[in-house]
Amino acid sequence: YVLAEAVRKSFGHQEVLTGVDISVAEGEVVCIIGPSGSGKSTFLRCVNHLEKIDGGRLMVGGEYVGYRQSGSKLYELSPRETAQRRAEIGMVFQHFNLFPHMTVLENIIEAPTRVKKIPRRAAIEVARDLLSKVGLAHRESAYPSELSGGQAQRIAIARALAMKPQLMLFDEPTSALDPELVGEVLSVMRQLAIEGMTMILVTHELGFAREVADTVVFMDDGCVVESGTPGQLFNNPTAERCRSFLEKVL
Ligand code: ATP
Ligand code: MG
Repeated sequence: YVLAEAVRKSFGHQEVLTGVDISVAEGEVVCIIGPSGSGKSTFLRCVNHLEKIDGGRLMVGGEYVGYRQSGSKLYELSPRETAQRRAEIGMVFQHFNLFPHMTVLENIIEAPTRVKKIPRRAAIEVARDLLSKVGLAHRESAYPSELSGGQAQRIAIARALAMKPQLMLFDEPTSALDPELVGEVLSVMRQLAIEGMTMILVTHELGFAREVADTVVFMDDGCVVESGTPGQLFNNPTAERCRSFLEKVL
């Protein structure tokens, strides 16, 4: 579903992605691990049309990110078309980015009603189903400031799911949480994986990666150093950089 080949991205003189190759099949869960500054977030932002790549090939759902293909020609997408494509991808960040002045329910129906023009009543119905799914049906009238971090993150996931995305991107969704709140967020993500959602997850939760990922990718210095099944990568890393990273974090 996602195909990255030799993807490059620079900020000024600094090349942050130096040739990333990652492919994610439909229904697959890929976890990206790697040291700080290795380009993990930048890669997710490229997949989600938040950054433009400078080289290589990046496709999501069979289409070039940022371009529309017509015959053999590529045309750059307008901001409106980009927004439409982005609506098919859900993204959850470390900090939940809920709208603080809206209730939980309003947060969840905002994009479906405004971007997808779904009638309010139908959007509320979907939102309530999602709230039960993440175990927060009783908090629909709460404001984000009244939620725990774990609850806020589960709402952020529900809000992303309300757009019925084909792909979910998670960038360290549990890193800002108190340890005792991590589990409730991971269990929502585990359920999504079981239901067959295509997911790319940047995480430091290696236990979770081992359990849920189909493929684990180790990035360093802007490229993929090693990738494999959790068993291969965690038990028998071949690259020295991967081995020493795992020794430090395990
Ligand atoms: P972390 O584990 O700390 O989140 P990361 O692997 O997600 O790290 P990125 O956030 O992708 O790393 O950053 C990779 C490099 O790109 C860093 O050196 C960072 O300073 C740089 N960078 C990221 N975004 C920008 C930007 N908008 N402008 C300039 N430099 C940037
Ligand atoms: Mg990051």
